Amino acid sequence: MKKHNFNAGPCVLPKEAIESAIEAIRDFDNTGIGILEISHRTPGWERVMAETEQLWRDLLNIPDDYAVLFLGGGASTQFFEVPANLMKKKAAYLQTGVWAKKAAKEAKFYGEVEIVASSEDKTYSYIPKGYTIPTDADYFHITTNNTIYGTEIHEDIDSPVMLVADMSSDIMSRPVDVKKYGLIYGGAQKNVGPAGVTFVIVRKDILGQAGRNLQTMVDYRTHIGDEPRNNSMFNTPPVFSIFVMHETLKWVKELGGLEEMYKRNKKKAELLYNEIDRNPLFVGTAAKEDRSLMNVCFVMAPGHEALESEFMAFAKEKGMVGIKGHRSVGGFRASIYNACPIESVEALVACMQEFEKMHK
Ligand SMILES: *Cc1c(COP(=O)(O)O)cnc(C)c1O
Repeated sequence: MKKHNFNAGPCVLPKEAIESAIEAIRDFDNTGIGILEISHRTPGWERVMAETEQLWRDLLNIPDDYAVLFLGGGASTQFFEVPANLMKKKAAYLQTGVWAKKAAKEAKFYGEVEIVASSEDKTYSYIPKGYTIPTDADYFHITTNNTIYGTEIHEDIDSPVMLVADMSSDIMSRPVDVKKYGLIYGGAQKNVGPAGVTFVIVRKDILGQAGRNLQTMVDYRTHIGDEPRNNSMFNTPPVFSIFVMHETLKWVKELGGLEEMYKRNKKKAELLYNEIDRNPLFVGTAAKEDRSLMNVCFVMAPGHEALESEFMAFAKEKGMVGIKGHRSVGGFRASIYNACPIESVEALVACMQEFEKMHK
């Protein structure tokens, strides 16, 4: 039976990327040697690295004064690398979920942290509004998409201080005005590739000003390098993960880039939210205006709570994979990233409708 993959991360990838990855494991770039077994100093690999950076620059329209880095350690490592590199005395954080909270926790190792607003009071089901960003902060940190709770900051906000964003779970889902940010980071495994590679987009002139000595690997400048450029190859990069990211972004570009992704993502999300709002058995958990295009969270409607495990089993029978909600929210979460085809969303909607009929 066809499986519909709604996992939150790692998650569905374009089948074209998977096919190229399988082929590259057997034979990379007609070398007769597989990608898992080549040196990262071979010319074929250096070309893939350069092309991957170029794909990022083209898709997101990244200006030349920004570096694009591919590192290890996941977004969680950036939680401390960001303040290590950028915080002089104080930073401001918007607490929209546990990832944001964890980011703020690591920043406290480097100085004062002001939480400008938090939605923890309502299980992070909304994005706080009307807060004031302190102008004495070195930067303001946001999490643009809150993977666990299904909320999203839909615009590139204005900030009086440097804006830093964890875009782990919505990067490449819509066009972004990169110029508004000092730094953007995230793990690749939600929307741009498999686990193992972390992206960092950073404006170069903000580096080297925090006034502290940094370990070589922690200092972003190490990975940028001058001549010869390190190009994220100061140490061994996560070769295979970057390769699959390269293939994934090639697919995004061939489909028409981020405008097209945004159009598709809006359509998929609308389809599913419309069904949640229409179907008397289900109810969404996130504030409507803050609903994420990537992670759609819903629970059984009041009075129907007892049907939760029955729906879970029914959906599984119909081929739905990974729709169990995070334990802190409960219910269901369908992650409908770029590579999730609209057919999967239609299948989930049909499944919800059939379940409704069974319980009329
Ligand atoms: C998954 C996720 C993280 C954690 O990423 P790792 O790569 O596992 O460290 C951080 N922030 C957000 C928004 C996430 O979705």
